[in-house]
Amino acid sequence: MSNAIIYTRVSTKNQAEEGYSLAGQEKDCKVFAEVNGYKVSKVFVEKGESAKTQDRTELQNLMKFCIANKKNIDAIIIWKIDRLTRDIKDFYKLQEFFAKLNIKVLFARENNGDSATDKLTRNLMGVLAQYENDQKSERVTNGMKTAFLQGHWMWKAPIGYIMKNGNIEPDPKTAHHIKKIFKLFATGLYQQVQIIKIMADDGLKINTNMLCRMLKNPLYNGYMYKKEWSEEPIRGIFEPLISEDEFKKVQDILMGRRPLITAYKRNNPEFPLRQFITCPHCNQPLTGSKSKGRKEKYPYYHCHNKDCSIHFRIRKERLEEMFVEYLNYIKPEQNLLNLFEATVKDIYNEKLSVRLNSQKRVQDKLIELKNKKSKLIDFRIDGTISEEDYKFKTEQLAEEIQEQEFRLREFEVHDEDLSKCLKYACRAISNIDTLWENGDLDLKQRLQRLIFPKGLMYFSDDFRTAEISSLFIKKDTLKVSYNQMVPPSEFESLSTP
Ligand SMILES: [Zn+2]
Repeated sequence: MSNAIIYTRVSTKNQAEEGYSLAGQEKDCKVFAEVNGYKVSKVFVEKGESAKTQDRTELQNLMKFCIANKKNIDAIIIWKIDRLTRDIKDFYKLQEFFAKLNIKVLFARENNGDSATDKLTRNLMGVLAQYENDQKSERVTNGMKTAFLQGHWMWKAPIGYIMKNGNIEPDPKTAHHIKKIFKLFATGLYQQVQIIKIMADDGLKINTNMLCRMLKNPLYNGYMYKKEWSEEPIRGIFEPLISEDEFKKVQDILMGRRPLITAYKRNNPEFPLRQFITCPHCNQPLTGSKSKGRKEKYPYYHCHNKDCSIHFRIRKERLEEMFVEYLNYIKPEQNLLNLFEATVKDIYNEKLSVRLNSQKRVQDKLIELKNKKSKLIDFRIDGTISEEDYKFKTEQLAEEIQEQEFRLREFEVHDEDLSKCLKYACRAISNIDTLWENGDLDLKQRLQRLIFPKGLMYFSDDFRTAEISSLFIKKDTLKVSYNQMVPPSEFESLSTP
């Protein structure tokens, strides 16, 4: 008696479409074996795997089993040709494989004869199986195209969206992250690394590559692109997370058309020191408002902390006058400024060389990637790699290239003439009090934060601060009373009649 093994297969998704259950296939194959004088030694059952031969674990196991036991297997029995494969190339390869091992391939429901006609019939069945497979995927493709043109996004949902009812919709868990990323980036105030850090603090882990892809993803703006289906972008019928305006701003920044860095919109121009100087008692930032006097309304800075017991308030003019005097007092001497100028030049040159080095590294990396890309094309032309590998690799490379180009743009900060800048800075520093007095709200607040990054605390006709920009004198360390430091001009005008 001869020995045979049986192979059955269904893909769970389309069991109905494919016609016959695993048990049914096995029963038919066993009947066939008995009628034809075969003893079944093993059954291989494939459930719901891909149609590709190389992805099917049971078929792979079967082939290994055949190699190991070739002397004891005379035939493999399969219900129908399309159970073995729907790919004509695979069909020939598998036939060759079993022929080499001297194992007959028999089909329970097909003609198994050895005549030329029988073989032709089997081959035609193989072709037909592939045709059916192609048609099926064509139907799927056409269906997807129609849905796409109607505004459905049916592929993987990007962060910020979830799949629902054959389209995407904002994900309540992550949509706000995306909005924040775009908002931050659109200000032009943040570099990628800073955004990545801010988002990490918010609990969203991303890397440069992901950030780059997010910022460029038109889905967030409600548009879908698929060149093979439509030349024009398609407006999706899902809710965009980002407005056209903001998305465009971000693209401009990405393309290097960086807008001017603008300050935060803050507060009332009448109270520049609001939210900056803090209460002497509770250290909460002061707010500003006008008192409701009987005739005139006086502007005051005051503490609005309900739990603060002293209800601190001070007239606007008085506090601002004091602040200008304080600025004048902490101004550095000219010789210190000269030193500053020289030091900055040194540091700048040092940083410049570091920057040029990293810029060079990115450029080299880009060249390397582009070389790889052209080599890949060569490999594809001479057939060294398969179409699939080629596609996979080129996509991967395109992503890497995009990432490096993105990095490169970060280096494109325009260098103004350094010494001109420095001269301006020194002049500004030595006139810091006048500059503040005459500046608009925006300049005032920028200067304040620049000099006192952690704010300033009012303290019995004086100020205290935890931190002061290194160019200015930190008064606390000098232990000099503020009153002794009133500008000399006033003393002179008082003492010389
Ligand atoms: Zn207070």
